[in-house]
Amino acid sequence: MTIRTRFAPSPTGYLHVGGARTALYSWLYARKHGGKFILRIEDTDLERSTAESVNAILEGMTWLGLEYDEGPFYQTDRFARYDEVIEKLLAEGKAYRCSCSKARLDALREEQMARKEKPRYDGHCRNRDVSPDEPHVIRFRNPQEGEVIIEDLIRGRIIVSNRELDDLVIRRTDGSPTYNLTVVVDDWDMGITHVIRGDDHINNTPRQINILKALGAPIPKYAHVPMILGEDGSRLSKRHGATSVMEYRNLGYLPEALLNYLVRLGWSHGDQEIFSIDEMIEYFELENVNRAPSTFNPEKLLWLNQQYIMKDDPARIAHLLSPHMGERDVDPTEGPDLVEVVRLLQERAGTLVEMADQAMFFYRDFEDYDPKAAKAHLRPAAREALEALRATLADLEDWRPEAIQRTIEQVAGRLGVKLGKVGMPLRVAVSGRGASPSNDQTLALLGREKTLQRIDRALDFIRKREAQSA
Ligand code: GLU
Repeated sequence: MTIRTRFAPSPTGYLHVGGARTALYSWLYARKHGGKFILRIEDTDLERSTAESVNAILEGMTWLGLEYDEGPFYQTDRFARYDEVIEKLLAEGKAYRCSCSKARLDALREEQMARKEKPRYDGHCRNRDVSPDEPHVIRFRNPQEGEVIIEDLIRGRIIVSNRELDDLVIRRTDGSPTYNLTVVVDDWDMGITHVIRGDDHINNTPRQINILKALGAPIPKYAHVPMILGEDGSRLSKRHGATSVMEYRNLGYLPEALLNYLVRLGWSHGDQEIFSIDEMIEYFELENVNRAPSTFNPEKLLWLNQQYIMKDDPARIAHLLSPHMGERDVDPTEGPDLVEVVRLLQERAGTLVEMADQAMFFYRDFEDYDPKAAKAHLRPAAREALEALRATLADLEDWRPEAIQRTIEQVAGRLGVKLGKVGMPLRVAVSGRGASPSNDQTLALLGREKTLQRIDRALDFIRKREAQSA
């Protein structure tokens, strides 16, 4: 049997990290078992579904690399099929027309609440002959006896008595099918073997199983993934920070770091924290998904991102960094090789946004010096060192890190000062900041011309400062 899993988002917003985790688990399960992963867009709620949201979801899936084997299928393309199934259930007496008015249903509900009962439809129209010409909904004739047993692959056995379930509406008065009906038809038609989804759907599962049984359809296996909480214990929402997958891209996270974070959020394999995609596929088991909700920890995600930035191939980082440079109006081809810049910055940046900020001075003259760094290092006392450096670097034949480093050391030696007295003013002069990669590497990449210009600019700055204090 080929394993077939699916991700079935409703396109009413962006791709949420919770949805992405569910999608990842479904994807991993399919990949692990040589199965198929299907994307289905549940867009039957015409008022809340938007094309932008569909695009945002597809964009998020692509960015994460969760490629699907079939789809995207759109439920709005399948109304004829849902009708066909509803008609079949009606013809077989497994569904019926109900013309109960809203007033009657409201009154029923109130009585039940007053008796402290769970509100449920009382089956008033179950055995009535409602004419198709009257306004009506169609309800599924749920079995009144017996129970539904779900062997949930995460939560274990769940038993629900049919007496708890009422006759659910499967077609509204306006003729549109309801969520539980469309999901059942789609899971059946698409041959889904494993329904892996958020546990907010757990109450729907026994109802869906009953409809599948009525249709004579195979029952898939179910795995309900517990929800994600914010650090205060409430359901993860915007209040807790970024929850959209694409927002993490914009904040400078690597897709592999986010995937790694999400896979570990609610699943574990011993103490291992860092997983390549291949390892995730190899080790992932639904049985090892936590039954309890997990707490989203932004610091841990940042830590993972840093690990990935440090260890990933510089060419790949450069590829992902490039759009962030573009956002700063920098075309990295008009400056030092971005891959080399990445190599210098890999150990220093937690996000690509930080890296882009740190990389800016290679491509663009900075506007102002970092005030603290300038105050400490671009002082009259640094003038001599910068002048000496400028003169020596201007004639340096071999513009490579080793020779540059030797020059800096020689200048310090000649002036009889510590290396830092030369190195720090130079660093602030070329980068505008007090913290940057090593001077030798930085200068080598920046090039002689820019280096000399920036030393001149720093000397100007010092002269002005001298003039002001004189
Ligand atoms: N469309 C549903 C949602 O976005 C998911 C349905 C399902 O996975 O069965 O919550």
